[in-house]
Amino acid sequence: MASGVAATSRTSEKVANLAAYLRSLDPESLEVACVFLTGRPFPASDPRSTGVGWAAVQEAVERAAGASPRAFGEAYDRSSDPGRAAFEVLSARETRERAATREAASIADRAAADERAPTGRSPDTGPSLPEVQAAFASIVDARRPAARVDRLVDLFERLDPLAVMYVVKVLSGDLRIGLRGGLLESAIADAFDRPLADVQRAVMASGDVGEVARLARDDRLGDARPTLFRPLLPMLASPATDAAEIVARLGTPLWAEDKYDGIRAQLHKAGTDVRLYSRDLHDIGGQFPDVVDSAREMAWDGVLDGELLAMAEGRILPFARLQARLGRKEPDAEVLATVPAGYVAFDVIAAGGGEPADAGTGAADPSARVTPLLERPLLERRAVLEALRLPGRIVVGHLEHPATAGELDAAFDAARARGNEGLVVKDPASGYTPGRRGLAWLKLKKALATLDCVVVGVELGHGRRHGVLSDYTFAVRDDRPGHEGELVTVGKAYSGLTDAEIADMTRWFEAHTLQRHGRYRLVEPSVVVEVAFDRVQRSARHASGYAMRFPRIARLRPDKRPAEADALSSVAALAS
Ligand code: AMP
Repeated sequence: MASGVAATSRTSEKVANLAAYLRSLDPESLEVACVFLTGRPFPASDPRSTGVGWAAVQEAVERAAGASPRAFGEAYDRSSDPGRAAFEVLSARETRERAATREAASIADRAAADERAPTGRSPDTGPSLPEVQAAFASIVDARRPAARVDRLVDLFERLDPLAVMYVVKVLSGDLRIGLRGGLLESAIADAFDRPLADVQRAVMASGDVGEVARLARDDRLGDARPTLFRPLLPMLASPATDAAEIVARLGTPLWAEDKYDGIRAQLHKAGTDVRLYSRDLHDIGGQFPDVVDSAREMAWDGVLDGELLAMAEGRILPFARLQARLGRKEPDAEVLATVPAGYVAFDVIAAGGGEPADAGTGAADPSARVTPLLERPLLERRAVLEALRLPGRIVVGHLEHPATAGELDAAFDAARARGNEGLVVKDPASGYTPGRRGLAWLKLKKALATLDCVVVGVELGHGRRHGVLSDYTFAVRDDRPGHEGELVTVGKAYSGLTDAEIADMTRWFEAHTLQRHGRYRLVEPSVVVEVAFDRVQRSARHASGYAMRFPRIARLRPDKRPAEADALSSVAALAS
């Protein structure tokens, strides 16, 4: 109880600090600060990636600090946090250069005070936030990895160690976790004295928290809306264990949709311009030209949510077939012929028919032409979807209306018999909440449970797997208050991946090893795997306090970031 109160006051203090900081910024810096505070160098819907991995950060920190090539790894051992490691290594340089000066002491103080409440404060001197973002853009533009590192060294040399710590956190996407739970949204609401609900609605509708901060500042939150070709995070489903639990949670009537085992994709269309975005908001249309071409035939503009699948003549093929299409930027004719793809739509996020196009220029702003449907109930959104005349490769997902737990079980079996993974059960009265994993969508998967975990360690295999890194130790996200952002191990398994995948992953893990301990290596925690198991039980063997019985790696999840791995609370729920 006492610690709960303490946590609350800390949170409100954090929000107040952040709000004061945001209020102090000019509009341009405000926008950039909010983007950085989500742990990204650019807005979520901006496809640019700096391409900066741990190796580059490590080298740049060591070069900027004039430190030994092992300094970063050793500092990382102490904190398990790349930002803090960078801070430590660079502070050592400062300390060496300006031994016992006031400045070093104040930096250390600020780091200690700020560790749990990052404010993204830029140093008094040194580049401004927009300048830091411009430096990120120049890193994107660097063609060779060596040039990227050079530009990173240049940036690190212009910043103080504390600022570097935040830059590294932004580059590694770490801040996102620290600020989960809507802290940033609360701070924006506080800073400009707007209702939190309005800020939350605007963030969901626009998908760009920087833009929303600016709108809040200008008292224009109502202007936030989905924009064509600026993808929103997809709405997510929470795991459920059985039909009885779902009925207890959602009541009836229930909507039970088949859970298709493919790749989540948001389809944006304006005229002949069609783009597909993955759940991590990358433009993946190039990999699915057959679906894109088919979608062009729709006499409709708007944004659909659905799943990409391997599909031949309306029949869905197993996920393994779709894998042949993945990882190829542009499939060749043979792949297109042997593994045709299709799209199962299950939702509509925005639809054409908003304000009329600008008759004067003829070239309308596409964003002006879509009406957001986020706040309409699923019932209405589905009606919009079903009224669409869809071309050959696009179909609407299967929907049942079970009235009892027994009927829900029957719907689950029928979905499995159709070759699908299970069901996503939805509340027909619910709105579409981008990026949220609420209780309006509950997923019921095959009897065999799976969890998405982050690989934190790998080991050389035995026998046929001799010489390759085939044994993985994996972790889930700790979501206990005060531990957010940490990873806790939950199991270890021999890889169930194909030889080719293991070979690929071995190369990747070799390049991203943080530390070697004999046959075992601690690796950069970036790879998400879906782990299947029979059940979860309490165990002191792993840091999570749980262990899986018969875990096996079901597949790689390159579409998920570590921040999207399952949380410790989900493991605990499965164990009870
Ligand atoms: P999981 O990937 O196991 O966390 O399950 C959630 C995913 O199921 C979503 O992100 C979608 O990619 C997928 N999915 C398949 N069918 C549906 C559906 N009818 N409604 C919502 N999500 C679905």
